Amino acid sequence: MELYRGKSKIILQSNDENTVKIRFTDNATAFNGEKCETLPGKGTACAAISNLIFRYLEENGIETHLLEVLDDTHVTAKKAEIVGVEVIVRNAATGSFVKKYGVAEGKEFNPPVLEFCVKSDELGDPLVNESQIIALSLATKDELSEMERQALYINNLLCELFAKVKIRLVDFKLEFGRYENRLILCDEISPDSCRLWDVKTGEKLDKDRFRQSLGDLISGYSEVLKRLLDAQI
Ligand code: 5GP
Repeated sequence: MELYRGKSKIILQSNDENTVKIRFTDNATAFNGEKCETLPGKGTACAAISNLIFRYLEENGIETHLLEVLDDTHVTAKKAEIVGVEVIVRNAATGSFVKKYGVAEGKEFNPPVLEFCVKSDELGDPLVNESQIIALSLATKDELSEMERQALYINNLLCELFAKVKIRLVDFKLEFGRYENRLILCDEISPDSCRLWDVKTGEKLDKDRFRQSLGDLISGYSEVLKRLLDAQI
């Protein structure tokens, strides 16, 4: 039974009521679904990269929803209640940050910038601050500090990981879920949700290839996967 159909993943009920089955599809969307294409191989690449990264994070003390990899495009995951706030971490300026604040593309942030957005396609994922999140009952103050703490730790782990494969982690988006009495990392971490630039050439290896029609998306994602596999992470 289908529980939820997202832009690039489908969530299915599994036999166990506490778990879900997730299918990574070949759908690519941008600009809130305005641009939409089927790109064969995208689901497999995102699943492989995300599974690898979630395993790496688990090994380093971050609890994720991932339970079992079933095949190239399916996993089972803990059934969590997704928090209605997306967490964005930025190590450098690009995308909506450049558009909004007029700073130079690629300007480094140290410490990184942390943003919260409402998870709502209808509203276009608007930026929200802590008091707005509490007023909207999207998360509690404690949940916000916990998401912030985990997001910054995940950023450290991911920067280290991508540095090993000569990729610059520019920014990324995280989603958390309530599971039992704690917050766990959900959704995915892949080139769909991160900006990844080749350290040497600056080539974009992420979804901006699709958003900005920069070239074949799959070859960028395959390059990310190949480097992570070669480094035996
Ligand atoms: P920006 O705010 O610059 O558009 O995005 C910042 C980062 O968060 C980028 O890495 C982008 O891919 C990711 N991101 C922001 N919103 C979404 C979203 O709705 N879905 C996905 N997959 N990634 C997002």
